[in-house]
Amino acid sequence: MSKTKFEFTDNVMYVKGVGPRRAQALEKLGIVTKYDLLTHYPRTYENHTELTDIADIIPGEIALIVGTVIDIDSHEIRRNLTIINAILKDKTDEIKLTWFNQTWLLKKVRAGTRLLVIGKAKYDSWSGLEMNQIQSFTILEPNEEPELGITPVYPSTAAITQQVFRTAMKNLLSSMPKLKEILPQKLVREQYLIPLDSAMRNIHFPKDYATLDAARRRLAFDELFLIQCGLMLIKRQTRDERLGISHKKNGALVDAVLEKLPFNLTGDQKKVFRDVTKDMEDKLPMRRLIQGDVGSGKTVIALLALVKTVQSGFQGAFMAPTEILANQHYETFTKLLDGLNISVGLLSAKVTRTKKLRDEVYKKISAHEFDIVIGTHALIQEGVTFDNLGLVVTDEQHRFGVSQRSTLEKKSSLVPDMLVMTATPIPRTMTLTVYGDLDVSLIKELPPGRKPIETQAVTTRSRKKIYDFVRAEILAGRQAYVVCPLIGRSESERLADIESAEEIFDTLSNGIFRDIPCALLHGKMKPSDKDDIMEQFHDGAIKLLVSTTVIEVGVDVPNASVMVIEHAERFGLAQLHQLRGRVGRGAAKSYCILISDTKADVARSRLDVLESTNDGFKLAEEDLKLRGPGQFFGEAQHGLPDLKIADVFRDIEILIQARDAAENFITDDDNLNYFASLRQNLAVAYGDKFNQITEA
Ligand code: ADP
Ligand code: MG
Repeated sequence: MSKTKFEFTDNVMYVKGVGPRRAQALEKLGIVTKYDLLTHYPRTYENHTELTDIADIIPGEIALIVGTVIDIDSHEIRRNLTIINAILKDKTDEIKLTWFNQTWLLKKVRAGTRLLVIGKAKYDSWSGLEMNQIQSFTILEPNEEPELGITPVYPSTAAITQQVFRTAMKNLLSSMPKLKEILPQKLVREQYLIPLDSAMRNIHFPKDYATLDAARRRLAFDELFLIQCGLMLIKRQTRDERLGISHKKNGALVDAVLEKLPFNLTGDQKKVFRDVTKDMEDKLPMRRLIQGDVGSGKTVIALLALVKTVQSGFQGAFMAPTEILANQHYETFTKLLDGLNISVGLLSAKVTRTKKLRDEVYKKISAHEFDIVIGTHALIQEGVTFDNLGLVVTDEQHRFGVSQRSTLEKKSSLVPDMLVMTATPIPRTMTLTVYGDLDVSLIKELPPGRKPIETQAVTTRSRKKIYDFVRAEILAGRQAYVVCPLIGRSESERLADIESAEEIFDTLSNGIFRDIPCALLHGKMKPSDKDDIMEQFHDGAIKLLVSTTVIEVGVDVPNASVMVIEHAERFGLAQLHQLRGRVGRGAAKSYCILISDTKADVARSRLDVLESTNDGFKLAEEDLKLRGPGQFFGEAQHGLPDLKIADVFRDIEILIQARDAAENFITDDDNLNYFASLRQNLAVAYGDKFNQITEA
């Protein structure tokens, strides 16, 4: 029989030791092809490198022993509990082995059977030494030498034992031809990588621990390098294909705005604006992400950049995730641009609801009667056309998908510059993988005079005390927020005992705060009512605002000094941090009070973390640990490739090396062609898995 050619795309059932029945069980683990099996990497390893003589077993320590069974029997202790005992003997001593309920053993293991056993023993003076915690064992053929080594443990289900996995993997590896090197030799050498073939074999059956490390590093590097190359490629293409705009140098108009600002820019703001200025003056389109914690002053950077585009004769667009924020930006802009002959337009829900008003605004946009247009998603509606769009700024990027970002960008015949701002403190590791096509600027420094917000988690028993404190703050001239998770209450929520914003508003405004101007704000209200209330709160006419999370992002009322969050356990960490960021924006000391009676561990640890730090980056790392990256990014995570072996937290060092390597690699045109063919080769060799990895 002629041997058929080995293909990675072959069904896994053709691997010796698998077959159709086990293939079905493997499919539940996502393993369909030989390639899937090959890249089903071990979860961990057992150290089977050293045999212990039975005489040398230390109670409580893991030992690997080999011996011959001299006796085996079973006792039914009670229903559903059968104990199987065997005596195992080697040349030094004997030991009693104990299994529970595995009666099938009696058929396979008899006096004379040789076993390799790994487990822990205990000692008591009555029954002597007994191995009662058996982790795994293998039945050896009469003359078979036990195979010692670092043994893989695979992620598995009950249907597939470790033994089956190991055997199948061994058979797969022995039938697999030697893998060709996929990376250029130069790169392999520079990065001190071991060959791909050796890495694949040693990740499953490591020769020793040093080789295992090297194998892991090699495979993680490949994964990360390919992703980075993909991202660099996108970055390069957007920059190559079409022509961008070179903005004029900062002139009188930008200076006039700087002059009008009621404060000086912080060092970080200056630095970020320098980055932006440089990008905008460059011919290549700007693709920049500004990351700055809540309250770090990102809006003014957007303002300056937009003025810069206007100064060069272009229009600018500023997209905000909520109506309230768009209005707020509009107000800030009109105030700061007053008298400078720059016209600012607002495209809000109010405008788009009536056709007449909408058409009017659309016309003004396309006729370039507005220099700067601020709006929500309304900006990316079909009917909106710009005359000469030079810059697009999106605020709180994590709320917009990547596709929305590019829709706005396409509303121009030119390639407008693009600035993305986010307060979501995405850890550097994540930025590299998710936003690898963007350049990143950081604002770490907060404007001067900010006092750290004091955060306290309390139970409902302290409510009275808390509201007395809020009252005192308001009487001292400050303002406060009370945030609740729900607007009204459904039946189930009534049962769950969660007060809604409406109820809390009723209680507070008719009770302890009855002599104080209070208002209720939530997402189901008419936009015009929302605007009114925000305006009054902003002007200080309303002192206490009971609200849902509509105020979560961006709202800026510096006089507010207290944030009370009811049922704090119902919010995520990032969300709580955003809410907390609504206070601490002025000179007064600010407080964030988290009310919760929860006893759940995860919720409690969230509250603990918030109490312990104001640093958004630290919080983000914690949040990722608590919930994992999928949760953290939600929808926006689309396109984040599935990593099989690399871990963007543990492998940050490899990630940075891979990124640097990709950066050098992709700038070279020869390499670019090589990379394109590399992807093709990989697609041929491995099915389309590698394409999935590299397609961002
Ligand atoms: P965010 O980064 O959260 O969007 P904002 O841009 O809303 O922050 O700024 C928060 C507050 O800080 C605003 O009231 C703004 O006017 C003020 N601010 C911004 N920059 C400075 C600065 N350099 N000095 C003092 N206050 C500043
Ligand atoms: Mg903001």
